[in-house]
Amino acid sequence: MREKIQMTTPLVEMNGDEMTRVLWPEVKETLIKPYMDLKTEYYDLGLQNRDHTDDQVTTDAANAIRKHGVGVKCATITPNEERVKEYGLKKQWKSPNGTIREVLGGTVFRKPILLQNVKPAVSTWIKPIIVGRHAYGDVYKNSEIRVPGAGKAEIVFTSPDGKEIRKTVKEFNGPGILQGIHNTDDSIENFARACFEYSLDQKVDCWFATKDTISKTYDQTFKNIFERIFTKEYKNRFSGLDIRFFYTLIDDAVARVMKTEGGFLWACKNYDGDVMSDMVASAFGSLAMMSSVLVSPDGFFEYEAAHGTVQRHYYKHRNGEKTSTNSVALIYAWSGALRKRGEIDGIYELIRFADTLESTVIETIEAGSMTGDLARMAEPEASETLDSFEFIARIGQNFDANWSK
Ligand code: NAP
Ligand code: MG
Repeated sequence: MREKIQMTTPLVEMNGDEMTRVLWPEVKETLIKPYMDLKTEYYDLGLQNRDHTDDQVTTDAANAIRKHGVGVKCATITPNEERVKEYGLKKQWKSPNGTIREVLGGTVFRKPILLQNVKPAVSTWIKPIIVGRHAYGDVYKNSEIRVPGAGKAEIVFTSPDGKEIRKTVKEFNGPGILQGIHNTDDSIENFARACFEYSLDQKVDCWFATKDTISKTYDQTFKNIFERIFTKEYKNRFSGLDIRFFYTLIDDAVARVMKTEGGFLWACKNYDGDVMSDMVASAFGSLAMMSSVLVSPDGFFEYEAAHGTVQRHYYKHRNGEKTSTNSVALIYAWSGALRKRGEIDGIYELIRFADTLESTVIETIEAGSMTGDLARMAEPEASETLDSFEFIARIGQNFDANWSK
């Protein structure tokens, strides 16, 4: 038996809800704690505790990431009206991911985890397509009006000295809808830098697309900022690695992505990234086969599972039925966070642990042991379809063998 790895700085650990909350301690106890002196600062972001603390716990957790640098987050419920009733909540609390992104800012990078025995729906895709999603502004921080009837809609900007810029949006003849959105140069610049840095780190091309032909000020500003930052700060570093930055229109990008072999970073505006990352993930096989990290411009990292709390499986589990929930994204959230901790603190064994854990996950599935979501798609057929707990246990056995080598 190897000696346990010693950590020096705690990870900010954020627990969550439902099925992912059930699997969280399984992953920790079976795959992590036996091998290291795990240090975490624990925040319970489960819906009940968010309600109990008036959601203060979410802000505290985000600030703890600012303090320690690296966090790992379980999936959490974003309450709607049904959840308010189900949990008897004081109010419909905001999305925890939204709150954390507000505190940290930055860009979310989602990268599919490829398997030999699960073929992507798009047959040309042989390398991962990483989606980089701007995690600030646009429709996620909007102001909306349900227009009741005839009237004039305007946008107005007032400077501190009282000067106004005013534009008519629409002269309404009858009822309709109205929306105001924004972004800031600062946030877009940080988004561009995060994407270029990630491209350099992964040695892959960076694609960016907007609808600047239609949105001649809003989207054009995104385009201009990307081009300015690239030319000024990144052009030489990119050519040094023989990678490139490629700008095109969003509709052209979508059409081209379908014909590529993958292997690039696709930088997306907030909404494009929301939609495209789910499309890319599901085309590569499963939402559970996706790693996800929020990279803040100040150098903070939050690793998470990209999928939700898998509510349907949780209700089955609560009724004593077997579930076959895929824990790969949860495991990769832990391995990603531990690897980053290792890099920051110079603990080589932590990096090796993360690499070995991830390769064991792939090896286990490629050897035919998997959960139901993958078994439906695997070629050759799965040799064993495991339930939620058996799958983690099987990875644990295989990891133990690999780690003691
Ligand atoms: P979900 O948890 O992503 O699950 C949707 C469906 O996708 C599941 O019913 C399941 O399909 C499949 N699936 C997702 N993850 C899986 C996994 N690990 N293994 C196997 N199958 C998986 O979305 P939801 O059920 O619509 O949302 C539940 C809650 O999650 C909501 O309250 C929402 O607010 C929250 N949410 C949180 C996050 C986050 O914290 N990052 C993200 C999205 C949603 P089958 O039922 O067909 O097996
Ligand atoms: Mg989404």
